[in-house]
Amino acid sequence: MLPPSVSKTLSFLRAMTSPSTFFRGQVGDGREQRLLEHVVAEAEPGNPKSVLDVIDRYTASKGTWFMNIGDDKGPILDSVVERSNPRLALELGAYCGYSAVRIASRMKDPNGLLISIEMNPQNVQIARKMVEIAGLSDRVRVLEGTLESCLAELKSIIRDELQLSAIDLVFIDHNKNVYLKDYLQLKEEGLLKSGSVIVADNMGFPGSPSFWRYLKKNAQELHTVEHRCKFEYIGWISDIVTVSTCV
Ligand code: CA
Repeated sequence: MLPPSVSKTLSFLRAMTSPSTFFRGQVGDGREQRLLEHVVAEAEPGNPKSVLDVIDRYTASKGTWFMNIGDDKGPILDSVVERSNPRLALELGAYCGYSAVRIASRMKDPNGLLISIEMNPQNVQIARKMVEIAGLSDRVRVLEGTLESCLAELKSIIRDELQLSAIDLVFIDHNKNVYLKDYLQLKEEGLLKSGSVIVADNMGFPGSPSFWRYLKKNAQELHTVEHRCKFEYIGWISDIVTVSTCV
């Protein structure tokens, strides 16, 4: 039996080298479903912190790695949510719902809503269940698809249902190759406004070079602060979370 820290590193390497992680958004060994079953068994219903703690502890005790923002980088996201006080937040890449629970539990606006877009249908079910266990179902809506495929529905929710014009906070944490494309799509659709905040995870590792170059070249459009941190659940890899405010 390997120590959990060694198992976790092997579990991380397996996830990083599995084509399924990249193409399907699940590692392909059933870990996401097992995580949900563990949370169902262990977390206190209606308590978002309990859900997050159970997930964070699972990775340490079972030695299974997950691509959640995690407990080390999580406080960066928490403080942005608290500071920006969003009425409407958008997440690109729900995965198992960890960051959705994290964001929604920090939203203070009584009418606050997080819309989370997730391409993998199994992850959509898992994320919805995580949110439900946390008692946040009325604050989070998980849509299945990509930003492109969900765009009409997203715009209808924002404009027709919520009678809003733009998104206050965007958390980007999906396919690193489409960070820039999706940001530009939100901008072109008029879904961002002056003061909208864009948080991008994993800008240090694995990195999103095209979005990084765009942020560097367009400082007059997006005022960016880099938060240096450790990669999720793996302390020996450095990462960066960028927090950009639309000028
Ligand atoms: Ca991430």
